[in-house]
Parts: sequence; C-alpha cells; structure tokens
Amino acid sequence: MYDYLIVGCGLFGATFAQKMHEAGKKCLIIERRTHIAGNAYTESINQIVVHMYGAHIFHTSDAEIWEYVNRFLPFRRFINSPLAYYQGEIYNLPFNMNTFSKMWGVTSPKEARAIIEMQKEQYKVDEPKNLEEQAINLVGTDIYEKLIKGYTTKQWGMDPKQLPPSIIKRLPVRYTYDNNYFDDTFQGIPQGGYTELVKQMIQGIDLRLNEDYFAHRDLYDSMAKTVVFTGRIDQYFDFRFGELDYRSLKFIHEVVDEDNFQGNAVVNYTDVAVPYTRIIEHKFFDDPNLPGTVITKEYPALIQETNEPYYPITDDKNLERYERYRDFARTKRNVIFGGRLGEYRYYDMHHVIRRALDCAKNQCAK
Ligand code: FAD
Ligand code: UDP
Repeated sequence: MYDYLIVGCGLFGATFAQKMHEAGKKCLIIERRTHIAGNAYTESINQIVVHMYGAHIFHTSDAEIWEYVNRFLPFRRFINSPLAYYQGEIYNLPFNMNTFSKMWGVTSPKEARAIIEMQKEQYKVDEPKNLEEQAINLVGTDIYEKLIKGYTTKQWGMDPKQLPPSIIKRLPVRYTYDNNYFDDTFQGIPQGGYTELVKQMIQGIDLRLNEDYFAHRDLYDSMAKTVVFTGRIDQYFDFRFGELDYRSLKFIHEVVDEDNFQGNAVVNYTDVAVPYTRIIEHKFFDDPNLPGTVITKEYPALIQETNEPYYPITDDKNLERYERYRDFARTKRNVIFGGRLGEYRYYDMHHVIRRALDCAKNQCAK
C-alpha cells in the first residue's frame, strides 16, 4: 500500500513525489508515456540535448524554486532571445527598442512611443476584451499585423479576436534595447537536460512507465490512500461536464548536416502562410560548439490529430466548464489535481513546481 499514487511523471508529479518521499511517505509514480519528465522531456541525439516537445527554458523570480531545482543539477546560463521571421525580415523579440527600430527606423524610445500611440489611437480601449485589442493597445497595428496576428492564428487555430488578452500579456513590451524574452531574475537550462533533472529528483521512488491510469483505474485506486492526478481533469471525470478544449502541436525533428543552421536557439515564423510557428536549433541551448546540428519544426495541430493536449484554451467557455470540474473535484476526497492538465492552466515550469511544493507542504501539515 502506497501513501500516494502519482499519475504522470512531469514536473508537477516529480516535485510532489520528491517532497513526499523526502518526508518519509511511500510513493508510486505511473506514467503513460515511455519516459519521464512530461513535456520537458529531453533526449540526446548526436550528443546534442534535444527538447523533444519544444523549447523549454527555465525561468523564475522565486529564489526558493531556483534553489530547489539547482539542488538536483547545475543549470547552464541561458538567456532566451528569440527572433521573429516575417517574409524575409528578421525582428528581435520580445517587443523592444530593437524591434521598433527595425520596424520603423526609429532610434529613441520617444519616437517609438509616438508611433505606437498614433497607431493605437482608433483602437484605444480601457479594458481590452480579446487578444487583438490587447496586442494593438500594447504595440500598435504594424507589429500586430506582422508579428502577432499570423503567429497567433496558426498557434491557436482561432481568430485573435476570440482569444483572451492574457495570452499576449505573457510577452514583455520594453522601451529599452533588451532582447531577454523573460523578465525573471533567474533563467537557465539544466546541464544534461530535463530528463536528467527529473531522474535525479525521483531517485529512490517507485516508477512504472507505459502505464495509463485509465487502463486499470480500480486497481491503481486500491494501491494508495491518495491519488495525485496530473492528467486531464475532464477525462478523470469521464467528461461529465463536456470536453475541455486543448491546442496541440506536432514536432518534426531533423538532423541537419551543418554546424549552424539558423544562428539562434529559437526563430518564430509569424507569417500565417508558413505552416510551422517555430524552428528550434537545440545546440544553442546546450553547447554551440558541438559538431552538426539538430532542429525541430513546431506545427500547430488539433488534439484529434495527436491526442496530446499541450495547451489549455483558456477562453470564457472553457474556464466556466473547468470551474465546474474544479468545484466537483473539491467534493472528492483522496484525489488531488495538479499541473497544466490537472488544473487546466497555462502554467510554465516554475508555476507547476510552486504548486507542487505548496501541495506537498499542505499534505505534510495534515
Ligand atoms: P506534463 O509535463 O504534461 O506532465 C503530465 C504527465 O502526465 C505527462 O507525462 C503525461 O504523459 C502523464 N499522463 C497524463 N495522463 C496520464 C494517464 N492517464 N496515466 C498516466 N500518465 C498520464 N515552460 C517553461 O517554464 N518554459 C518554457 O520555455 C516552456 N516551453 C514550452 C513549450 C511547449 C511547446 C510546451 C507545450 C510547453 C512549454 N512549457 C514551458 C510549459 C511546460 O511544459 C509545463 O509547464 C510543464 O511541463 C507542466 O508540467 P506538468 O507536470 O503539469 O505536465
Ligand atoms: N506570440 C506572437 N508572436 C510571437 C510570439 C508569441 O503572436 O512571435 C503570441 C502568441 O499568441 C503566443 C503568445 O504570444 O501564443 C504567447 O507566446 P509564448 O512565446 O509565451 O508561447 P509558448 O512558448 O507558451 O508557446
């Protein structure tokens, strides 16, 4: 008999299991995939650490979380500075003075502000209700048209007018020449990759790969006092309030016989006519001096095509539906929901680690 059955070996499951194991509790992790680390999973191809489910850059301003992950593996210094490619032109991201200078030939923050103010004049709203309104209110129409509209339409398979403003607020807008994609204090990539990080975290904990909770649900439930579920909350409850929507992706990995394919870790393709959204060149996360290179093209996809729910679609309809699941979950004892799928939130890695640490603390306090 286990104290905890943890469904899913992503960063939520691994963090929770690590803390409870440390507290002397008996844990079993089951994972339906053939590997640990969830969507942060990395694999070595020709000595290059490849992010198999898209680029994963660790960033946080929470010193406790930074200290926590660094306990298991040293982190390599890495500042994410992606580029945007639009019809043969390259722009710096996030939106900053380098972007504005390339777009309009301006050199001062005052000039950039004046152009943005002028462009957003007719769209000004106090409280943007959708992604398009939010984006134009932040950076004006030129940047919206070239760098946001096409990318967003592809990424989400929806008109930006139907998407919540919160999605674009993930990106900083700066009137300085600073290409750092994140505002956080700490940033880096675990040396050796996330699979190695999670391997270190779950040392000594029972783990079964290739095990889908739903294939033997009664058996698994009978094996532990409490279930910690990091899969889809709607699936856990047999879709009783309807299915939640998720956006998926397809990742096409290629070994390229060149030493330097694109000169940067991440290039976004913002034109709607290009079918992929990003190309990642993995050696730049790791060691740019390694021979050869491996790239990944990221194609947005319907979940029906892949059966992999990467992104919750947090519009009003889905959030209302999720709230019904969450309220129903609160009536159930002996099951805890966590992570991007369990809480239906657009969480980054540091968010799920924070949630898992807090959840473990609550359990220990009981
Ligand atoms: P997951 O990693 O999804 O883990 C859940 C696990 O549960 C999975 O392994 C799944 O197979 C398993 N599971 C599900 N159902 C079952 C079942 N029925 N039985 C058994 N096992 C099951 N975050 C950042 O901080 N920085 C980034 O740069 C970044 N880039 C990203 C890029 C992409 C393309 C994506 C999709 C996400 C990115 N993220 C990034 C977010 C990051 O991946 C997540 O925040 C984090 O991995 C979520 O961890 P999790 O444990 O909640 O979920
Ligand atoms: N986005 C965009 N153009 C870009 C990059 C991002 O329009 O070049 C928008 C898009 O809607 C995307 C959102 O900003 O979904 C959040 O971007 P982020 O890089 O955080 O996406 P993630 O890495 O989570 O896929």
